[in-house]
Amino acid sequence: MDAYDVIVIGTGAGGGTLARHLAPSGKRVLLLERGDWLTREPQNWLAQDVFVDNRYVSPETWYDAGGRPFQPQVHYFVGGATKLYGAALYRLRREDFGELRHHDGVSPAWPIGYDELEPYYTQAEQLYEVHGERGEDPTEPPASAPYPHPAVSHEPRIQQLADDLAAAGYHPFHAPCGIMLDEGNMPYSRCVRCMNCDGFPCLVHAKSDAEVLGVRPALEHPNVTLLTNTRAVRLETNPAGTAVTEVVVERDGADERYAAELVVVACGAANSARLLLASASDRHPNGLANGSDQVGRNYMFHASQAVLALSREENPTVYQKTLGLNDFYLSSDEHDYPLGNIQMVGKSQAPMFRGEKPTETKLAPRWSLERIARHAIDFWLSTEDLPLAENRVTLDREGRLTLSYKPTNDVPKQQLYAKLKSILGRLDMNADHLIHRFAYMRNEIPVAGCAHQAGTCRFGTDPATSVLNVDCRAHELDNLYLADTSVFPSIGAVNPALTAMANALRVGDRILERLS
Ligand SMILES: Cc1cc2nc3c(=O)[nH]c(=O)nc-3n(C[C@H](O)[C@H](O)[C@H](O)COP(=O)(O)OP(=O)(O)OC[C@H]3O[C@@H](n4cnc5c(N)ncnc54)[C@H](O)[C@@H]3O)c2cc1C
Ligand code: SF4
Repeated sequence: MDAYDVIVIGTGAGGGTLARHLAPSGKRVLLLERGDWLTREPQNWLAQDVFVDNRYVSPETWYDAGGRPFQPQVHYFVGGATKLYGAALYRLRREDFGELRHHDGVSPAWPIGYDELEPYYTQAEQLYEVHGERGEDPTEPPASAPYPHPAVSHEPRIQQLADDLAAAGYHPFHAPCGIMLDEGNMPYSRCVRCMNCDGFPCLVHAKSDAEVLGVRPALEHPNVTLLTNTRAVRLETNPAGTAVTEVVVERDGADERYAAELVVVACGAANSARLLLASASDRHPNGLANGSDQVGRNYMFHASQAVLALSREENPTVYQKTLGLNDFYLSSDEHDYPLGNIQMVGKSQAPMFRGEKPTETKLAPRWSLERIARHAIDFWLSTEDLPLAENRVTLDREGRLTLSYKPTNDVPKQQLYAKLKSILGRLDMNADHLIHRFAYMRNEIPVAGCAHQAGTCRFGTDPATSVLNVDCRAHELDNLYLADTSVFPSIGAVNPALTAMANALRVGDRILERLS
């Protein structure tokens, strides 16, 4: 058996970023990815294939707490969920790292402060070529460097929305975007600024995803090896249960085993918990590294809402995800608890409504889907959900995954919606014309929309209440690390990927120190 220095399981925001960080060290790194390369094909950019036929969603079945099966919104490819993500690359706010009092309880503190992650946020923004503008967002935490690229400009309708919001006393800002757009030199720009970005794979590889900017650059180093279509099914340990000795994988229908000095799990929050739970042994009867009984618990995925507002005039915007609003992110005079973040989501296209019924509103029963799409301005609202012990991933004897989830913070979620509605009513949009929709996929089962999944293996200082120590190494195993969104003790209300990337860089530094 080849011996590696590090095995990284999963190549998404966490694993792909970590691989790139470890690659120049010359250490022998083995990347194990259950999916394949995502094929570059015309369907990458076809709404019907992506949103209606779920071409890039795994056919896997999970179960909700009531035992009902559902198809989770998971994407098993080199690059993981980032192949399909909207590339809104936000930092958590400084306040998110401390305890925050919410409507339904307290969002717990992280074991590290913002300042410890800040240099890694800066590094991650550079690695993922983030475009943005510092100083516009009043909740923005301090940063040690400017964004590496200028903000993506608003198109006229969104600029008008920004101007209207500012005139009404709000603080709209240019959203941080991970697209390789060079507006000053479009003939040479890798990104063509298309409308098929958020929720689609990028056909021209111009989205800052973990395949293009993580795995591919890592593979330029001869010491890095990638095995695709290779699913880790179990981790085995020494007799004392203190170190992982082998990673058992399924590949081409057969079991294979790989060994390394250090093993990093980065399968995404649900699947990382699944792997640890599936690795139960005599020494770890409740699942690997699960003496605290915390593996699988504290699952979060944001209390999110996608809504479209119908503008009186048409909205011809192509790339819409350029604006954010954090005026309700923290508590205010009006609410002594946070409501959340408002941002834009990719522009609606008529085929995306298949399975939804936007015509069945009092708005315009006779409007065609095409007409609704032409007038739509699309928002994405995120309220923080709290980590509850009973919101969890469990496995049954057959290895079937159950995701039990009870929503939290429903009141601030509704209040954020009401805020948007009242703001839009005062702008050039009719407040009655705000329509709830499912973004990204047509699945009506809320837990299926697990795009922002996090928690399940949180890091902390106390082995009784956390799975990992401050370095994201398992309290109970000397050579097992986690480096994806599973480590989050709380999720904040901004998109999680940049934080997973930054933390993977931090974990990477601890690993390199150890191997040097
Ligand atoms: C449609 C969509 C839009 C999104 N938009 C945004 C956005 O705009 N901004 C943002 O910040 N976030 C966004 N997200 C969320 C973001 O993509 C995730 O938070 C991020 O990718 C999580 O990183 P991760 O490393 O935890 O998991 P992933 O990126 O999902 O990576 C996990 C990897 O592990 C692999 N894997 C799983 N199990 C195994 C196994 N047993 N063996 C081997 N490999 C395995 C998977 O195939 C995958 O490649 C979006 C997600 C989706 C789906
Ligand atoms: S907007 Fe740019 S990065 Fe996004 S899918 Fe289109 S070309 Fe790719």
